[in-house]
Amino acid sequence: MNLSILDLLFPKRCVSCGRLGSYICTKCFSQIEFIEKPVCPVCQRQAIGGKTHPGCQGRYRLDGLVIACKYRGPVKKAIQKMKYKWIFDVGEVLINFLTDSLWKFDLPASYILVPIPLHPRRKKWRGFNQSELLAKILGGSFGVDVCNLLVRTLEGSTQVGLDRESRKENVKGAFAPRFAQSKSSSFNIEGKNIILVDDVYTSGATMAECAKVLKKAGAKEVWAMAVALG
Ligand SMILES: [Zn+2]
Ligand SMILES: [Zn+2]
Repeated sequence: MNLSILDLLFPKRCVSCGRLGSYICTKCFSQIEFIEKPVCPVCQRQAIGGKTHPGCQGRYRLDGLVIACKYRGPVKKAIQKMKYKWIFDVGEVLINFLTDSLWKFDLPASYILVPIPLHPRRKKWRGFNQSELLAKILGGSFGVDVCNLLVRTLEGSTQVGLDRESRKENVKGAFAPRFAQSKSSSFNIEGKNIILVDDVYTSGATMAECAKVLKKAGAKEVWAMAVALG
């Protein structure tokens, strides 16, 4: 084992159970339920490459979904830890799960990453946006741009505990393109392939709403990417 001075000062701990030695211990790793077969973002049934089934497609709908594992056990613990306090190591571990499973998905040839925004008031309260930080680490490891193309204009309540229909209603009209008037090419949505980034994909209502906003603003393909499927 190679111990550096950094390991001595900041010993690695399992992001789920806290055991010393590594960011994810072998016991917790063995409990993670990785997604073997990609699913469609609309019906959540098995779909080749994570692409939306032809019958589930729509002009303003998501074109595909990338997810690494189920939102259970150690992954749930790690994500919950990160939600209230950004822990870089947890982010790194979760991102690795995504990068390791990317080969299963038929992503567009080129794309940019767009994090799901928090309402400014909530971001201020929490101090960070976990989707944005995840997108930044992903962007660095994929070598692609991260662009904050969306703003959350309505705060809404938390999606936790709401049923599918209420989740949809709760996010309706909550997002807008950030630079609707901008002529600058880097903020131009027209013709771009976009991958939305969030930590958990549950009903998909938030991602679906964001996809609609981006497609109405001219985006070509819009995919959703999340670490875990809730
Ligand atoms: Zn552990
Ligand atoms: Zn489907």
